[in-house]
Amino acid sequence: MHTCTDHDSCVGDALQKADMICQDKGLRFTKLRRKVLEIIWESHAPAKAYDILDKLKKNDTSAKPPTVYRTLDFLLENGLVHKISSLNAYVGCSHPLKHHECYFLICDACQEIKECCNNDIAQAIIGTANKNKFHLKNITLEIEGKCQECGDKN
Ligand SMILES: [Zn+2]
Ligand SMILES: [Zn+2]
Ligand SMILES: [Zn+2]
Repeated sequence: MHTCTDHDSCVGDALQKADMICQDKGLRFTKLRRKVLEIIWESHAPAKAYDILDKLKKNDTSAKPPTVYRTLDFLLENGLVHKISSLNAYVGCSHPLKHHECYFLICDACQEIKECCNNDIAQAIIGTANKNKFHLKNITLEIEGKCQECGDKN
């Protein structure tokens, strides 16, 4: 789905932003955290926790599931990755400094994900939540379908 022509720069950007965010917040961007984020950013497709673990083990044979989950929690908490619940997988956030409310177009053919933001949608949801006196924690919308490339093949 992604017409990203220079994925190295996507990855470089993401790592640099993560570095900055951690520095700003006084958090340690450890080698492990960096490595996990790098693995998630290998593509624009979501990564499953056990795939991340497998890749991590190539560098560090002592890596265990709790290591991965703890690291994923850190990345999630700091807005560096998003969890795609319908796929139980993780994807890197493409603009971690900008927003908390995003929605995802998920192509069910190539599995790639596009992150979009639209403040109108977020405001509509916040309005509905307020009307219902609902305490909002997190807005994540997952929209399934086919990207242009995959749609064109049929
Ligand atoms: Zn890319
Ligand atoms: Zn995001
Ligand atoms: Zn596709």
